[in-house]
This record gives sequence, structure tokens and C-alpha cells, in this order.
Amino acid sequence: MVRPLSFTLAAGIFLLLMVWHGGAIAESDAIERIDAIQRLSEKDNAQALNQLVTLGQSLGSDTPYPIRRDYLSTLMDIQVDAAKMEAVETSVTNLLKLALANNDNSGVVLATAKSAHIMVLSGKTEAALAQLLAVEAIALQTADARALWHFYSTLGSAQLTMGRFEVALESTLKSLQVAKDYPKQARTLHLRSLNLLCKVYMAMTNWDKALQVIEEGLVVADEVGSRKLQGTLYLNQGATLANLGRPKASVEAYEKALRIGQDAGLIGLQGTALNNIGDSYLISKNYPKAEVFARQAMVKFKEAGEMGGVATAKSNVGFALMGQGKTRDGATEVRAAIQFSQEAGATTDQEAILGELGRMYEQAGLYREAVATIREQQALTVQLFRADREKSVATLQAQFDAVQRQKQLELLARENSLKDAEISNQRLQNTVTLLGAVVTVMGGIFVFFLYRRVRKSNRLLREANRQLEFHSVRDPMTGLFNRRSFLELMGKRSAGSGKTRREDDSPDGLMILDIDHFKNINDTMGHAGGDVVLVEVAKRLRSTVRDTDMVMRWGGEEFLIYSPKSNAEHLKSLAIRVLKVVAETPIAVGERDMTITVTGGFLSLPFSGLSETDCNWEKAMQIADMALYLGKVNGRNRAYGLNRLLAPFEQVMPVLERDISAALKAGMVELVEVMGPVSSQDEPTGSANGESIVV
Ligand code: GH3
Ligand code: MG
Ligand code: MG
Repeated sequence: MVRPLSFTLAAGIFLLLMVWHGGAIAESDAIERIDAIQRLSEKDNAQALNQLVTLGQSLGSDTPYPIRRDYLSTLMDIQVDAAKMEAVETSVTNLLKLALANNDNSGVVLATAKSAHIMVLSGKTEAALAQLLAVEAIALQTADARALWHFYSTLGSAQLTMGRFEVALESTLKSLQVAKDYPKQARTLHLRSLNLLCKVYMAMTNWDKALQVIEEGLVVADEVGSRKLQGTLYLNQGATLANLGRPKASVEAYEKALRIGQDAGLIGLQGTALNNIGDSYLISKNYPKAEVFARQAMVKFKEAGEMGGVATAKSNVGFALMGQGKTRDGATEVRAAIQFSQEAGATTDQEAILGELGRMYEQAGLYREAVATIREQQALTVQLFRADREKSVATLQAQFDAVQRQKQLELLARENSLKDAEISNQRLQNTVTLLGAVVTVMGGIFVFFLYRRVRKSNRLLREANRQLEFHSVRDPMTGLFNRRSFLELMGKRSAGSGKTRREDDSPDGLMILDIDHFKNINDTMGHAGGDVVLVEVAKRLRSTVRDTDMVMRWGGEEFLIYSPKSNAEHLKSLAIRVLKVVAETPIAVGERDMTITVTGGFLSLPFSGLSETDCNWEKAMQIADMALYLGKVNGRNRAYGLNRLLAPFEQVMPVLERDISAALKAGMVELVEVMGPVSSQDEPTGSANGESIVV
């Protein structure tokens, strides 16, 4: 697509400016040229890079800051697209220095986001997240849409890479929203957000949504003239259609991507498209054709210098050969691919290829080889699981620490009168709990890593999906549904009619519960003792809910009850029952009987007559979590429920999302307090058993 008209127009305006403001010419001239180069980069990145570098050489040290900032930001974008990672790092450093010297927060955010972006691309997701969180506070204050967009989209892709789909979705949607606030690049940024959104939906296996987003993205890609993203979107369309069991349409989409790759000279794109077409033939067991395409893909990947792609294509050549009865030759190719992945440290790829090799041996009736290969694969799986687990725990610890510290500061500033020591202690404890939760979802994340890598190959994906399902439904210790199963449920909810629902259509209840002083139980009775308590509490919770309710282990010693079609009255009585069933009879742990209590927060979804677009389940959970926290601060063994908002939504939500007690003080919400049974150990203050008051 060419856009000569707007160009001429811009040049005209320019001339006018020159006549009117003699002194400002140089500045607006430079900025206009940078904008033009930015637009060019969508169509011809290499050419854009050349032009920009030339422009950069003409900028002296006396060039005003806004121009230098604009120049460096654009340079970073273009360098990233050109995969010139070292050069990006230099640009990032330069921008960072410059922004700091000029007291420009948004410049700092922009540079940091870009730096995090290359970290994500090079697999250093944890470090990327830590960087982003370090600038989160100033990012939220900046009014610079470009910086914000980079912040949210990088955050989204980091979260996606870590398997945290629901927050990734949130960040991506935010990036989509801020894109339009940066008019110069609004459509381009919109397109990039759509591309990310599509990846998020694919990772969530929400294929229908992914298809919708792709359709929209293709329109924008055409408008912007971005051949690369157009091609990427067709690749994703192909993969999505394959997952929807539409192989023919899938291959057609890949072929479109291939044609774009050929027209625009995008070699890597051609490689991936060819590889995926080959994959489709592998799935339909048309091995000779699969071999042809895999070989073509290999050539393209080599040409593009994408060695990971070469290995994938090589393994596909091997599988195609094995499928044609050339078992030994095929296996040799596959082994070479595995060797390569090993040298590149791509353990997940290696693991996936081994699994496939095992299946091919089996198909060829070579059972001894099959068993040996599968053993090898299992050994790798264990190794992988450990590595991922350690890495993710460390990162998430850093991440939660950062978030908790910030929240703690805010809280302390606002509520000086509250017992400081108690709060900081609480926050610290919460960090550990969250970590506990993280450890329990590691299994899910691990499967996701597998899943992400093998997505390139649809056949391998199917296997990963099977594993994903296996790992994803239940928590092994308590037998309760796990967090992922709830996320899936909510994913379906937001994809369905949930968004438009209002409270009157019989809302669903959400109740989050956290065992009180659980650390003490662990400390006195050992971790195994703690586990006994968890299993028993889970059992009691299940016994007290309705058959249609869903009890989940939300994290370490946190539980979530999802109670479909529960009005406020029912939720309150559920809270009374829950507090009672846990605390009334002590739990036998070894030789001792221990009285265990829980604290909870609950509300209905849709909440207070709001649509779920205004208050989605994630927001509702956040509010329930704050209600729980209030219960902890006020003495534990109780639950707080939010009945409704007492002031307009726009006014209450910002306050409520931040600080429930402030909202309460301002009379913005109606809160119900349900007290647990009085125990001898930890005597709750306030009213007697099960009584509730409206605050
Ligand atoms: P609070 O009343 O404030 O909730 O105090 P708490 O001691 O319960 O604090 P917190 O919720 O932060 O503590 C959770 C503890 O749960 C920390 C962690 O060691 C422990 N934990 C998490 N998962 C497990 C598990 O699977 N088994 C056992 N035994 N302990 C766990
Ligand atoms: Mg906890
Ligand atoms: Mg606790």
C-alpha cells in the first residue's frame, strides 16, 4: 500500500511552518522525517534503518532533547525488527541516559520497556519482568501513550511467555487501549497489540476468539501495509484452523503466508510457512509431500540464519522419511536435530522431538527403540521440570516482592493509624503464600513451556494438549479443582454471554478463603502436618457446598469457592457454613487436635448490577481478596462480603480497587461481616457465632 497523498500533505504543512516559524524549522523537520521513516519501516525495515542512521549522523550534540528522544525511540523499534540486538542495547542505554539527564520519566519507561522486550525475545523473561516492575509505578503516572504502549505490550508478552495467561490478556488489552492515544502510530501499534492478543488467545486455546482477532488484524495489516505481520497473522490463522480440525483451510492460510513471504522477501516467514505445510502433511500421513515441504523449509531457514527453524525442519524431514519406511535414515536426521537443540540449550525442543521419535519407532514396530527413546525423553522431562521450576520460583519471588513492597508503602502512607508492625508482617506472609501458590501451578507452567515451543508443529501440539489437560484439572494433594480449571471456566465465561450479564440474571458467587496462621501450623507440626490440615479443610469445604458449587485450591493454603446462581443471601449463609465447618471441630494432626480457622472475602459476579465489561471476574477477585485482607487485619476467623456499591460505579471502582477500607470509610460500599465460631485459641473480637452485620 502506498500513501503518497498524506505525504504530500505533510510536506505542504511543513513548508507553511517554515514560512511562519523560521526558528522551529529544524526541529519539526527532523521530527517529521523520523515519522516518515517510522511509517516506511512497516513496509521496508532495512531501507528505514539506513535512512534513520543517516539522519542520526546529522544530529549534533546540540540537538534538542525531544528530537533525540524521538530518534532513539524509533531507532530502537527498527533495530528490534531488524533483529540487531546489540545495537538495540546501545540505543536503549543512550536513551536511558538522556531521559534521566532530562528528568523525563516516560523516556525512562520507554527505554526500559524496549530493553525488556529484547530480553523476552532472547528468552530472559524473568529478568524482563523484574525490569518492567521496577518502572511500573512511573509508567502508571506517565501520560505518554507511546511509552505506555511499549510498557503494556512487553509486559503482556512476558506474562504470556510465563504462562500467566489471564494477566497477559489484561496487559494486552490495555496496550490495545492506549494504542489509539498515540495518533502518529495508532494503527501500527493497534496491529501489534492485535497480534499479541491473538497469541494470548491461542495460548489459552480460545480458538474462536483467536480467529476473530486475526480477521481484524488482517484488515489493519493491509491498511498499515505491514507484510510481515500480515504473514504472521496468516501463520497463526493456519495453526488455529488446524486446531479447530480444519486442515484444508489451515493449509490455505499457510499458503497465503508463504506467498506474502515470497513477495516481500521475508525468508524466515517462508521457512515457517513451508514447515507448517509440511507438518500438515505429516498429520495426514502424506509422508512424501511432508518430506518435500520440510526440505524446502530447511533451505529457507538456513538462508534466514534461523538455526532453531533448521532443527525443526530437519526433524520433520526425519519423521517424513521414517513414515516412508526409511526408518534408519529418518532417525539419523531426527538425531541430528536433537543434537542441535541440545547444543543450543533448547531442552524443550529436544524433549518434544524425542517424544515424537518414540512414537515413530512405535509406528514402525521398533518397540525396543521406542521404549529407549521414551525413557530418554522422560529423563529430560524431569530435568526440564526442575530447571523451570527453580527459575520461575526465583523470578516470581522477585516479582511478588516488588509488588508487595509497593503495595505496602501505599498502605502505610494511607493508614498510619493502623498497627504498622502487623501490616508489614502480614504483607511479608502474603508474599510467601503467593509463592506457595506459584509452586503449585508450576506443573501447569511447565506444560505451557512445552506447549509454546511445539506450537510450530501442530502434531506435536496435540500431544502437548493432551498432557496439558491431564495436568490441568485437579490439585494432586487435595483432589480439589486447581487454579487453571477456574481460569478456563472464566475464559469461557468472558468468551460467552458473560460480559453482558447483569446481576439480576442470578449472579454467581465468588468466595476466597485463606487459612489463618497457617505458618504456625507448619512451624509446630511440620510441613507434613500442614498438608494434613490442607487435605482436611478441603474435605470439609467440599462437604459443605452445594453439588453445583466448585471448590478450588487457589494457592498454597488459599481456597476459592465458585457458587453458580447464588444471591447475596445464599452467599452469606455459605460463608457462615464455611467458617463453621472448618473451625467447629478441631483437626487431628498427629497427636494433637488443632482448631483451624479461615478468613474469607466474597461477592457476586456480576457485581452490584454492573456489566462484566465494567467489572470482570479478575476485578471481582481482586476486590474479594481485599475483603479477605480486611478480615485478616480485623482479627481473622471471619469473612467479609461486598453486597453492593452505594455510589456511582465510576466513582467507587478506582477507590475500591485500590483500598477497600477507604471505600468503606467513604460510605461507598455495603459490607457484610460474618463471624466464625469463637475458639479457645484465637478468640475473635466482635459479634458471636455466625452473626452478620451490615457495615
Ligand atoms: P494469615 O493468617 O495471615 O494467613 O497467616 P499465615 O501464617 O497463614 O500466612 P500465609 O497465608 O502467608 O502463610 C501461608 C503458608 O502456607 C506459607 C507456606 O509455607 C504454607 N504453605 C503453602 N503451601 C503449602 C503446602 O502445600 N503445604 C504446607 N504444609 N504448607 C504450605
Ligand atoms: Mg495465605
Ligand atoms: Mg494464611
